[in-house]
This record gives sequence, C-alpha cells and structure tokens, in this order.
Amino acid sequence: MDSRTVGILGGGQLGRMIVEAANRLNIKTVILDAENSPAKQISNSNDHVNGSFSNPLDIEKLAEKCDVLTIEIEHVDVPTLKNLQVKHPKLKIYPSPETIRLIQDKYIQKEHLIKNGIAVTQSVPVEQASETSLLNVGRDLGFPFVLKSRTLAYDGRGNFVVKNKEMIPEALEVLKDRPLYAEKWAPFTKELAVMIVRSVNGLVFSYPIVETIHKDNICDLCYAPARVPDSVQLKAKLLAENAIKSFPGCGIFGVEMFYLETGELLINEIAPRPHNSGHYTIDACVTSQFEAHLRSILDLPMPKNFTSFSTITTNAIMLNVLGDKHTKDKELETCERALATPGSSVYLYGKESRPNRKVGHINIIASSMAECEQRLNYITGRTDIPIK
Ligand code: ATP
Ligand code: MG
Ligand code: MG
Repeated sequence: MDSRTVGILGGGQLGRMIVEAANRLNIKTVILDAENSPAKQISNSNDHVNGSFSNPLDIEKLAEKCDVLTIEIEHVDVPTLKNLQVKHPKLKIYPSPETIRLIQDKYIQKEHLIKNGIAVTQSVPVEQASETSLLNVGRDLGFPFVLKSRTLAYDGRGNFVVKNKEMIPEALEVLKDRPLYAEKWAPFTKELAVMIVRSVNGLVFSYPIVETIHKDNICDLCYAPARVPDSVQLKAKLLAENAIKSFPGCGIFGVEMFYLETGELLINEIAPRPHNSGHYTIDACVTSQFEAHLRSILDLPMPKNFTSFSTITTNAIMLNVLGDKHTKDKELETCERALATPGSSVYLYGKESRPNRKVGHINIIASSMAECEQRLNYITGRTDIPIK
C-alpha cells in the first residue's frame, strides 16, 4: 500500500495493534523496544531495534531505518526527536515532537489547553513537595483534590486523591521524587472520551463519543456510543476537536473528558496516540483507530465517514482484560466465555499476566446496548446463562 517504512517507538499492545493494521495494508514497520515485546512478537523482521524508547541512541538507530517515525507512548525523549528533525530533514515525525512535549508533562498540557481557551480541570503547580505547600493547595482547591505526577503517569500510577489534610504526608510519600501538580476534584457523573484523527493538512475527524468506566483508576469498560443525550455528545465532540486543533502535526489522539453534574464538560487529559478508549473501533467502526493513525501519518486517503460506526445500529462495549489479582492467568476464563459469546472478539497482547496488568481486551458488538450488556454479563460471569 505504501513503500515507506514506519518506525514505532514502543512495542506494547498499542504498537502491536498498529503493526496488525499495517500488516493488513502491507506497510512495513520497525519497532524499538525490548526483545520479544508484544509488537515484535507478531512482526518478523531483522530490522527491529532492541532497546528503549527513552534512550537517544536507540531512537537514532530506529530513525536510520524508517521514513516515518511514530509513537505508541508519549514518554519518549523529545530533545532527541527535535534533533532528528534537523539531522534527517526527510524523516517525518508524527505526532510532532512539539505536540509530544506539550502533552507528556500533564501540567504543561493543562497550561497549553487553557491558553487555547479549552475547558480543563483547575490545576496548580506544586513547586515544593512539602506539607505546607499541599496545605495551601487544599485551602485553594478544597478537599478532596488530586495530587498528580506531571510526567510518566499511566493507569492512575502517578495520582493520589488527597481527601483531607491528614492524608498529605501519605500523598507525599507515595509520589516522592516525582514532579507534581495538583488538580481540583471533578465531581463527574460520567467520563467521556473520543478518538480524533488529524490529517497532514490539519483536518480533524472524530470517532463516536464513548463513555469510559474506571475501576481502581484503570479503564474497565468502554460504552460506544456514550449513554448521554445527543446534545452532550455534540458538545463533547466540539470541545475535543478544538483541543486537538491546538496541537501541531497529524496523527490520532485520545481525548478524555469529565461530564459534570452541572452539565459542564472539562478535558481531563489528551494522549497523542491510539488509546484504550478507542479499541472498540476495531470491530465497531469502518476504520480502526490504528489504521486511521497509519492513514494520517502516511497521508493516505481518509474518505467521508471513515471514522463512523460500521452500521447505524452498531453498539459496542469494550472490556479490558486485566491480570487476575490472585491466580495467574485466571483472566483467560473470561476470554473463554467471550469466545463462546456471539458478537464478541478477544484480543490478547502476548504479555505475561501480572495482577491488574492490561493483558488484553474484549470487544462486544450488538444492535442494541441492552444486548451488549447481556453478553457482557455472561462474559464477566454475572450470569451463567450462555447467550444464543
Ligand atoms: P491514563 O492511563 O488514562 O493515562 P493517568 O494515570 O494519566 O491515566 P488520569 O487520567 O489523570 O490518570 O486519572 C485516572 C482516573 O482518575 C480518571 O480517569 C478519573 O477516573 C480519576 N481522576 C483523575 N483526575 C481526577 C479529578 N481531577 N477529579 C476526579 N477524578 C479524577
Ligand atoms: Mg494519562
Ligand atoms: Mg487518563
């Protein structure tokens, strides 16, 4: 489909699913990550680089082997990418290094969004990780507030909910040695998310608005479409699109939002890459988020409605498969039940099972949300009556 080689910084599950989409289009990919990482397991090539996406020398090695460089994780070394832009002017890097810089520090991301008139959760920097400064934060934002690491956060690892002033010492201990900021508590009724893909010439295409349900800070379920009125979906879409238009460069973005009791919508955070809340697109939409990302960074066609649901009655629920907390691999029982359920597809990432680690996901598709939920109930063992 395209003779250019795509290099991917990171070979986890997102990289693996980009590779799957690329393989189908016969697009060559090379990956930088540890040997036998999930993406490398499904891509036989001598050109992959063993190393780390945060190591400048390894990034340079990968850059030598590709025409377009992309990421599956934003925690990469931006100065190296900026140097590469100078050293290899023909190499395309998407998302743009500047976008990665603006997003990878969550506080800089907030400042950028505010500067562009985008509604976000109120945040304050925490220059000094001390009890006194957090007492001041509590006074300004009220309790509870969320103390967050500015960098290297995922699955809530990097967040601490400070419910009252007595919890301040524990919060400082848990997040010690990390650059911090604090966020006002968002009293949301639902969490919404949307995948948005941006073309090389700056056009934005939105996927449907979805609803994510988190358990222990990790996404558990994703309902597509979100169970909110159309007017809220439209408002969320406009907010997210405006946010994405403020970042340079192309590629796919995941936008997480809070839908508050007051009806207000606030952006929680943005990911400049494929996102967990977009996994449902593989089975529910005309084009998956992974293929859309490739089309964007390679400037391939993005025809009308290519981000829409496959049919007008498509409803989907995505269930994350996490490593069982007590018995290794026990989560595979859930996958077996999914295999026996109509309209359900199992994705396993080739990762070793560890408690609460994302090791796969299940997409459930049906012509109504009620039917999706019925199927979900069987898969999760809430009911033992198999779905016909
Ligand atoms: P991800 O894996 O999505 O990158 P993360 O580690 O960056 O996660 P956040 O998205 O900041 O973490 O927060 C994780 C979850 O914690 C949110 O989805 C939400 O449920 C809750 N949360 C975060 N910030 C707030 C807030 N200000 N008010 C209320 N809940 C919050
Ligand atoms: Mg995050
Ligand atoms: Mg998040």
